[in-house]
Amino acid sequence: MGDGIIKYLKDIFDNVLSVLFSEEEQCPLCEKVVEKTSLCLACRNKIDSINEVFVISGEEYSFKGYSVGVYSNAMVGMIKRFKYSRDFQCGRALGELLKEKILHINIESPILTFVPMSSKSYKKRGYNQSEYLAKVVGRELNIPVVNTLYKCKETLDQIGLNGSERWSNVDDSFKLNEGIKIKNRKIIIIDDVITTGATAYNCGKELMKNGAKEINILTVAKSNV
Ligand SMILES: [Zn+2]
Repeated sequence: MGDGIIKYLKDIFDNVLSVLFSEEEQCPLCEKVVEKTSLCLACRNKIDSINEVFVISGEEYSFKGYSVGVYSNAMVGMIKRFKYSRDFQCGRALGELLKEKILHINIESPILTFVPMSSKSYKKRGYNQSEYLAKVVGRELNIPVVNTLYKCKETLDQIGLNGSERWSNVDDSFKLNEGIKIKNRKIIIIDDVITTGATAYNCGKELMKNGAKEINILTVAKSNV
């Protein structure tokens, strides 16, 4: 009887350990077992990849932009689950995609930063999805992640605004955090989705004004609407 209980408890303990320390992960889209927290090859191939570099220009600067893929199909589902349903398995898989992309871009000793949220939006969501992605990449590739910027004015949601409204909505809406040293640094700004590029451009502009050497903008997805 006593032995039976001990065996029963040991089985439970082993099960808990196997969950905690399992090497096996599931593809967040089809649940097929994969080695790392990433998409399986079949789901990876459903992403419409973007290989070309694009340019995000404003009045003062031009920055290079890179995206993993088009904001469509599998990408939309994963980003929405991560952003609005606290699905961090999708978040980690998206971080893995960014990691692959950074390895291709090959920028020498960069630092990573991310588009900040207003404190009101942060409180509502509980996390900044862009910061989360930057931290996944930073940890995997051993690149420092620096919280460079804060949002200094409340802006409207960019969704629902047209192109020129989006630019004026976020104009001068970011400021450098106190004590942040970025002089002569090459910076990669991480965000989830890029559309007009107005938000990321204004982040880059503030970093350039404070002495950054080079700005690159890297997002998981690129949307045309
Ligand atoms: Zn899959």
